[in-house]
Amino acid sequence: MEVYEEIGLKRIINGSGKMTALGASVLDDEVAEYMGKASKGYADMDSLIDRAGKIIAEYVEAEDACVTTGAAASIAMSVAGIITNGDISKIEKIPFIDEDKKEIIIQKGHSVNFGAPIVQMIGLGGGEPIEVGQANSVKAHHIEEAISEKTAALIYIKSHHCVQKGMVPLKDMIGIAKKHGIPIIVDAAAEEDLKKYIHLGADLVAYSGGKAICGPTSGFVAGKKELINNCKLQYKGIGRAMKVGKENIMGLLKAIDLYSKKDSKLIIEEQKKTMKGLEKEVNKLKGLKAAIAQDEAGREIYRLKISVDEGVLGVDANYIIDKLESGNPSIYTRNHYSNIGIIYIDPRPLKVGDDEIILERLKEIISELA
Ligand SMILES: *Cc1c(COP(=O)(O)O)cnc(C)c1O
Repeated sequence: MEVYEEIGLKRIINGSGKMTALGASVLDDEVAEYMGKASKGYADMDSLIDRAGKIIAEYVEAEDACVTTGAAASIAMSVAGIITNGDISKIEKIPFIDEDKKEIIIQKGHSVNFGAPIVQMIGLGGGEPIEVGQANSVKAHHIEEAISEKTAALIYIKSHHCVQKGMVPLKDMIGIAKKHGIPIIVDAAAEEDLKKYIHLGADLVAYSGGKAICGPTSGFVAGKKELINNCKLQYKGIGRAMKVGKENIMGLLKAIDLYSKKDSKLIIEEQKKTMKGLEKEVNKLKGLKAAIAQDEAGREIYRLKISVDEGVLGVDANYIIDKLESGNPSIYTRNHYSNIGIIYIDPRPLKVGDDEIILERLKEIISELA
């Protein structure tokens, strides 16, 4: 029995993906044990933040890094760091700062909601978001025209939430930032590549610790030394409301270490095998058709795609999804295409044996329909 059940919550089987709403990641034993040990001792927090930043910077090949509670906090603290530029009395005034140079330029198709609005995180750091272009069309001239003495930084959001077509590519945006001598922040919250954006020339890059890295609730921003120093100083200001615990910092370090060493080929092969096993069994069920489908964005994720035949079953995919979710354990699937009769199962967050529980539950739901 999981501790969540002890306080009356339902057990969850996560077949949907890395979902913050479901607690993001499940930790490796090694990470969890390391966090337990970290919780038993004291640490000088300033030194820990400095040291952890240096260690992370080595993994991501940046000059320095600052640990945070997540990518959202990383954005707020990056913006605040750029606007206040190390001035402690300004740091204490954020977000209500009377400063001309506080505009942060963002492409309109990047002004998304990841669970909260990106522009709100900019505002939290004292920035004034300036959205340029249109939701599905932004050109370099839109960005250039918006730049003035008031511009503090540009921000680029790398995410499946963003409009993918018609935006100015990151390389071009970095070029514009360099030309005008303005820093550029990249939000790479869920990205798997921890070096790419630094190598491309971004000044600050924000990551979640609990997404691709599979760490605890945490995050970091990596980049130029001076800018990172200015981020860390926010712990004397707004950063206090986004304080990251010593256990989480140590868990993040352990998770990055494991992440950098993991054999992704082997993991992908195992995930494929599990999905193929489930495919074979689901195809025996009336009204369901299963096949393996690669991730739409081309990532190395092989999900099980289940098509629900409403003509045969008399119910649609949303009915099945609802039945899976309302049972105990509660089974979550990936439902972006449920309106066209498709349910996906993501192998990444499944634990050993979860595939069998999903199959049993599907069998029950189908037989109840007969
Ligand atoms: C998840 C996400 C965030 C927030 O990350 P946290 O680590 O949960 O704070 C920010 N931006 C994007 C694009 C995200 O996907």
